[in-house]
Amino acid sequence: MRAITLGLVGSLLASASALSAETTIIHADRVITDPSTAPMGRSTVTVTDGRIVSVEEGWAEAPEGAEMVHLEGKTLVPGLIDLHVHLTGDPGGDFWREAVEPDEWGVVVGVKNAEKTLKAGFTTVREAGSAQHTAFSLRRGTEEGLIQGPRIIAAGPPLAIVGGHGDVSGFKPEINAILSSGYSCTGPVECAEKVRRASQNGADIIKITATGGVLSQQGRGLEAHFSDAEMKSIADTAHSLGLDVMAHAHGARGIEAAAKAGIDTIEHATYLDEAAAKAMKDNGTVLIPTLMAFQGVTERLGQGVYTPTVETKIRDVAEIARVFMGKAYRWGVPIAFGTDAGVFEHGRNAGEFALMVGQGMTNRDALATATTNAAKVLHMEHEIGRIAPGYSADMIAVEGNPLEDVTALEDVDWVMVRGRIAD
Ligand SMILES: [Zn+2]
Repeated sequence: MRAITLGLVGSLLASASALSAETTIIHADRVITDPSTAPMGRSTVTVTDGRIVSVEEGWAEAPEGAEMVHLEGKTLVPGLIDLHVHLTGDPGGDFWREAVEPDEWGVVVGVKNAEKTLKAGFTTVREAGSAQHTAFSLRRGTEEGLIQGPRIIAAGPPLAIVGGHGDVSGFKPEINAILSSGYSCTGPVECAEKVRRASQNGADIIKITATGGVLSQQGRGLEAHFSDAEMKSIADTAHSLGLDVMAHAHGARGIEAAAKAGIDTIEHATYLDEAAAKAMKDNGTVLIPTLMAFQGVTERLGQGVYTPTVETKIRDVAEIARVFMGKAYRWGVPIAFGTDAGVFEHGRNAGEFALMVGQGMTNRDALATATTNAAKVLHMEHEIGRIAPGYSADMIAVEGNPLEDVTALEDVDWVMVRGRIAD
């Protein structure tokens, strides 16, 4: 009796899932399942309900009712991951805009940019700082399929020192006070509280501005902002909540201090020296180079886009930006892909690959930074970054072989995210 009941339940479940299952069969000429292995030739990838269920050699017949995608002449590559974007903003230096544009406008801009980013081949992004609810709304929108866009891991407003990069500066004090996001902090206790507040309000990751920045109005250099005790408090508190910390940092001592405090990734890392690199290696801290950001701001110099304070800072970093990642690579610092899109036009994210290779990285390693390495940074290495059974169906198709010339990724012909085809 018991066996019969179980059998009935089992077959009911099986028929229910057969009815609701949506299967897509993808044929491609070449499949890069993982940048560390040789590509497969003609293959069939089967996707059911948003997940990859099989990757087989040859072009298999599609079962009845399945959707068929025929990518003849194309290479199928794992969906790309950009660990540093700002979807809710477009490039430009008008710092006063934050005093006149409501947060809601950031969502409108973000919907446009989420679609552009997805169509450029990026199926997962880490949102590195926005107003309180804008990036979280986009995160939900792409997850529920209401809008087209990548999977979003979002920070929300960054933690900053009072008046530092990430806090408001450049206005009258009473205007600064009104525009403050409420996430500046002083001392380990208040900084711990702000981490908990960010967690409470929906952050997937804690973003901090560990040193001065290039595009803010304060002209006090690019060295450490938070004290060592504050950074340690932020890292420990975040980790106790199961959250990682990403730190914007330019100055070498700021990078070194952030790595020693237990910060998980360093964004930019412009003035990285050997001591800072050692601290990163010792602590497993990952570098996110954002070379496209330097490229983007340099393109806009001398056009009256930036204030004189900011122009000076851009000219100061332009030279070093052409070499620092190559040095880090040779020193053995772990590197994952991030661009700072929003500082330059969204959709140009894959331009980062050529800049990385230009500083001495191999094509294969460059592709790994945006797939397996980035997935690991997100603790999602069993979910994204590879084309393998059980993984989320996040894939793109391009002409050519990115393992031989990674700039093939600048022109993406077809994108699938969570089993949905971008159109
Ligand atoms: Zn940024």
